[in-house]
Amino acid sequence: MPIQKTEKIWRNGKLIAWDDATIHVMSHVVHYGSAVFEGIRCYKLPSGPAVFRAEEHMQRLLDSGKIYRMAIPYSRQQLVDAMAEVIRVNGAWPCYIRPIAFRGYGEIGVNPLAVPIDVYIANFPWGKYLATGDEGVDVCVSSWTRMAPNTMPAMAKAAANYMNSQLMKMEAIQNGYTEGIALDATGYVSEGSGENLFLVRQGKLWTPPTGNSVLPGITRASVLQIAKDLGIEVVEQMIPREMLYIADEVFFTGTAAEVTPIRSVDKIHVGDGKVGPITRRIKSEFFGIVEGTLPDRYKWFTAVPVKQPVGA
Ligand code: PMP
Repeated sequence: MPIQKTEKIWRNGKLIAWDDATIHVMSHVVHYGSAVFEGIRCYKLPSGPAVFRAEEHMQRLLDSGKIYRMAIPYSRQQLVDAMAEVIRVNGAWPCYIRPIAFRGYGEIGVNPLAVPIDVYIANFPWGKYLATGDEGVDVCVSSWTRMAPNTMPAMAKAAANYMNSQLMKMEAIQNGYTEGIALDATGYVSEGSGENLFLVRQGKLWTPPTGNSVLPGITRASVLQIAKDLGIEVVEQMIPREMLYIADEVFFTGTAAEVTPIRSVDKIHVGDGKVGPITRRIKSEFFGIVEGTLPDRYKWFTAVPVKQPVGA
């Protein structure tokens, strides 16, 4: 999917032209993957553009930076405001927003501490990630393991983690699957290359805890909240691989993937191969909220103030 460019990108507090948002090849990040980033969606609600869980995403960006001793010189609120400004100025929504903070140009040794940090926020129109229709996607268990604890921190959304994700994704696609599910270093189910994973068994909703090398997904947290409110029992517990094969329902969550049902794992049909009732309920609550057909009862949205066309 080629990037659809917009007009402006926010860089270190100022809006610059999209084409001017370039960096030097000797920047630290190019060589060592020294970046933390976010992926956020701005939906088109009947009331106008609104960012989904803006504060939680910007908090995770700051947390990822803190883990890597990368002091991002903006507050959460400044980052939220900057994101709203880019969306407003570019006039592009619904869209995907990509804030990124990285070690820039200065020194080429591994030690990053004296290298300046640059912060950018870009946005661009973006549709479905794991095109699914209504049936769900076919996935495999990856031959690649997610990062072991105390290696690359899984709780940080760091660019370098996505080298592992790319290995998973390429293998899955080349073998004819839409996505791969990684196991963690101890062999328990972890997550997709860019999604958290849920399964349903005996009426309960299961998902691996953060201790199984998963990114603490914001969609994951949202689905857990929705499930609790629907009275669905939630189990955050280690999941052995074979539970994927005997689960009644399996689905991915993520900003890009939203709620994506899984139809088969390693060519074994999930349940009867159709989207199950609990996935359907959670999916319809989630999409009801993000499409604005249900009220924003959790206050998940930050409205982007834009001028509405006359008569709108
Ligand atoms: N795990 C990984 C590895 C991801 O890249 C993502 C996408 N950010 C997720 C899980 C889901 O996180 P979120 O719901 O916050 O997008």
